[in-house]
Amino acid sequence: MNIILLGPPGAGKGTQARLLVEERGMIQLSTGDMLRDARSSGTEMGNKVAAIMDAGELVTDEIVIGLIEEKLEGDNGGGFIFDGFPRTLAQADALGNLLDKHSAKLDAVVEMRVDDEALVSRITARSTCGNCGEGYNDISKPIPADGKCSNCGGTEFKRRADDNEESLRTRLMEYYKKTSPLIGYYYAKGDLQSVNGLGEIDEVKAEIAGVLDT
Ligand code: AMP
Repeated sequence: MNIILLGPPGAGKGTQARLLVEERGMIQLSTGDMLRDARSSGTEMGNKVAAIMDAGELVTDEIVIGLIEEKLEGDNGGGFIFDGFPRTLAQADALGNLLDKHSAKLDAVVEMRVDDEALVSRITARSTCGNCGEGYNDISKPIPADGKCSNCGGTEFKRRADDNEESLRTRLMEYYKKTSPLIGYYYAKGDLQSVNGLGEIDEVKAEIAGVLDT
């Protein structure tokens, strides 16, 4: 089964994708993670996109489509979760063509609905374990008092460079200008399903399961 998790920054796409990987053996394809990896390993492409990402703007379609194209050549495990891709209509068209090429199809596009105020407070409060990637939130899920990750015991936590109010404003604007038209695009194709992304992690997980298992 191949699905897209669609929603603004902070909607919880990454958190839910990780749960689907753990529980269903699906493969998470997060273009944001791929770009951050390229940056930290200092590749030419990583250096090229660093300033764009920090500003909260979208990198070119060509770059992200290339990243996804490469991953689709590999094993698809229990199916792909597209997380943070596609973000433009051109990327959505390209994904359709790539899936056709692999005789694969999209089973669902899950729109995660959240309101803007919740996004700002979620994003400015979030951090992750530097070792396993477990997510934390200063308010709803603080780092344990002993300073150790509840999942792996790691003691280093990090915040994303673009998780600040200024970049977030740009990221939201990019979302509304370039990505939100995908809601109509996938609705018209009959692929769109919406869930309430505002609930607790387990509640959202159950709603997504309801969509995937029907
Ligand atoms: P994310 O981790 O999905 O929030 O992505 C972090 C940043 O990576 C975004 O703000 C963009 O600069 C870039 N990025 C990630 N995915 C895409 C995409 N599909 N298209 C363009 N830029 C992207």
